[in-house]
Amino acid sequence: MRIVDITERSVPISRYAAVAPAPGGLTTSIVALRTDVVRDGKAVVGYGFSSIGRFAQSGLIRERFAARLLAADEKQLVDDAGINFDPFRAWHVMLRGEKPGGHGERCVAVGTLDMAIWDAAAKIAGLPLHHFIAARVGRARPNESVPVYAAGGYVYPHDDLRRLDEELRTFLQLGYTHAKIKIGALPLSEDRRRIETALGILGGGQRLAVDAMNAYDRSEAVQAAGQLARYHLWWFEDVCDPLDFETQRAVTDLYDAPIAAGEALFSVAEARLLDLHGGLRRDRDVLVFDPVHCYGIPGYLQIVERFESSGWSRSSFWPHGGHVFSLHVAAALGLGGAEVNPLAFEPFGGLADGVVVHNGRVKPPDEPGVGFESKRDLWQLFKSLNA
Ligand code: MG
Repeated sequence: MRIVDITERSVPISRYAAVAPAPGGLTTSIVALRTDVVRDGKAVVGYGFSSIGRFAQSGLIRERFAARLLAADEKQLVDDAGINFDPFRAWHVMLRGEKPGGHGERCVAVGTLDMAIWDAAAKIAGLPLHHFIAARVGRARPNESVPVYAAGGYVYPHDDLRRLDEELRTFLQLGYTHAKIKIGALPLSEDRRRIETALGILGGGQRLAVDAMNAYDRSEAVQAAGQLARYHLWWFEDVCDPLDFETQRAVTDLYDAPIAAGEALFSVAEARLLDLHGGLRRDRDVLVFDPVHCYGIPGYLQIVERFESSGWSRSSFWPHGGHVFSLHVAAALGLGGAEVNPLAFEPFGGLADGVVVHNGRVKPPDEPGVGFESKRDLWQLFKSLNA
């Protein structure tokens, strides 16, 4: 049982549907991991991508992490029974020789390949990914369905409020009950108009989260918290620089409604610092670490277990990503819920084709693996790696 080949390519992604890529030319890596295991007459291939928001990782994947997987002995990658790849063993192979600290974005490169390994292993086991993960981590059963919310609400270059209004109405038509929009890019007075537009459609602060995308400095964060308090929002996310724990704590000290944090921290060491110094409250705050960006599932599990050991509940975790992989992880680990990007970051964001959200909940795909094959545009893109 071997990994015979790994192909990687950088592809552009946009935060809007059918609009030019975001400023800075956001990209993500797609990978195909070919094995010599045959199912239904075909070699099993696992697919992965670098989630959303942290750019492609081509050099790191090709020169370090894929190279280590391809050079590994079979026994280093395969489970004790010799019948499947062991994603935890493969993870240790990828990290061989890497020193503590210096997480940078190597964690994203590892997480990308980790996704492909889990996809391949779940296909070999003949299980949907959430069932396969649950079995591997000792949970009797994954959750049948997962609470989800629709994320988007980026500032439009033209006609912003009208288009934001349209976007939120579409979320409701699609079956979502909760949504998250972006703030922090405009003056607060304009962000408040955006928030009030969204509240008018969703029907109350308990259905709306806002995401400042780590934009605020200390005084801006404190000022924003003061002005947002009146809306009693579902949560206020990514308030300040992810490593500015002093500002994070200053905001949690004065803002009663839930705060969300963790999206831009990628290791258990950083997550521990957030827990110790960020002032987060176990009874209400939300943890939005991205499983792909946190060195994949083994790294994400370290973070979940670290927080649990200090008194947090798994229901506080709502993983970032907005795609089907994070949905599987939420179902498998029994997390609070998952983000979905129904209209942004095509073809990576959103659910499989034809999947219906009922009252803000959705079932993960039930075919073996992640189920990328049921998302036509994404599947076409992944298949192009095999050409
Ligand atoms: Mg965020």
